[in-house]
Amino acid sequence: MGNFDSAAFRRHFPAICPEVVYLDSAATALKPTAVIEATDDFYRHHSGSVHRSQYRGATVLTTRYEQARQHVATWLNAPVASDIVWTRGTTESLNLVAQSYARNRLQAGDEILVSETEHHANLIPWLMVARQTGARVIKWPLGKNFLPDMSALPGLMNAHTRILALSQMSNVTGASPDIAAVAAIAHDFGAVVAVDGAQGAVHHRTDLQQLDIDFYAFSAHKLYGPTGIGMLYGKTALLAEMEPWQGGGKMLSSASFDGFVPSAVPQRFEAGTPNIAGVIGLDAALAWWRQQDCNGAIRYTTALADKAERQLAQLPGFRSFRAKDSTLLSFEFDGVHHQDMAAILSQMGIALRAGQHCAQPLMAALGISGTLRASFAPYNTPEDVDRLITAVKKALSLLTD
Ligand code: PMP
Repeated sequence: MGNFDSAAFRRHFPAICPEVVYLDSAATALKPTAVIEATDDFYRHHSGSVHRSQYRGATVLTTRYEQARQHVATWLNAPVASDIVWTRGTTESLNLVAQSYARNRLQAGDEILVSETEHHANLIPWLMVARQTGARVIKWPLGKNFLPDMSALPGLMNAHTRILALSQMSNVTGASPDIAAVAAIAHDFGAVVAVDGAQGAVHHRTDLQQLDIDFYAFSAHKLYGPTGIGMLYGKTALLAEMEPWQGGGKMLSSASFDGFVPSAVPQRFEAGTPNIAGVIGLDAALAWWRQQDCNGAIRYTTALADKAERQLAQLPGFRSFRAKDSTLLSFEFDGVHHQDMAAILSQMGIALRAGQHCAQPLMAALGISGTLRASFAPYNTPEDVDRLITAVKKALSLLTD
């Protein structure tokens, strides 16, 4: 398992308890004390809103809030902080791109190419905008190794392809396509690339300028931060051309009954009082994560998933849907319904997710109705894997006798 100090890492997480083996970090990660304390401190000791009031407390918060934006930009190597828009999370970010970028630009005959591996968050917003504009959503089919089929890509792109939507890492299989290579092909055809980084932001080092993608979204809660906060990155020139999608306070520079003039980017996309506590929590999560041995943590987590897969593969009827080197392990057993197994595992203190993982087209492509998914994090241990295996064996004996 390498030199990574999992015991030290684990001590940051007060929610870890001996009764439960938490294997659902791909749904949402546990929160370290640093994040809990930063959020607690905000509610306990601060007052005021951001970008509104003039008194000292409020201006201090505004500075902190904008520093957090700069920290995210630096972490992702975005050229400027104003390329970062606060949202409720990945889902809202992708809807923002669909409604604010795509809706005004698409027309009948245009195409949006979407990978078959996508979470619904990176499919439904495109189906919605296609319905609104007359554009068509085209499927980029699953290929080998749970990745979208790269060899099919050039043949699917054409002069009508306006957008390509893809995730950096699948929440089902953990497969991580070569985003830079995809972006280069898409750009040759004049399409913009929208990347769902909900899982990828946690497991990959992301350099937006090097990847050269046009839009990128993630959610803080999968990255050890609070729920209800995330961000959208957009290339400066693209954001500058986009209309606001929600109207309200502080997204405009002047308003009358005749109309309004939107503010500059990013405020024009941030109508209403924002999630200040969320931004502070996200900032704390990022600062904390950057102090950890991130590469060691990911290698260690992958080794846990390897161990679990190796041991489960000894059991009859096991089938894995795990991409190579993934920290996620989606699996099923012949003749055993995933929900039945999950219910029994839950009684034995194993917290994992079973179902379609908001990826129904991928389930259809794999020819399955769902999977169990054990998603590992650096706070899990080899003993957690042992407990999973023991519990699965017991569940199998109950369900197959
Ligand atoms: N995309 C992927 C790959 C995900 O795993 C998730 C979360 N399950 C989302 C998008 C949506 O994220 P959120 O619910 O935080 O908006």
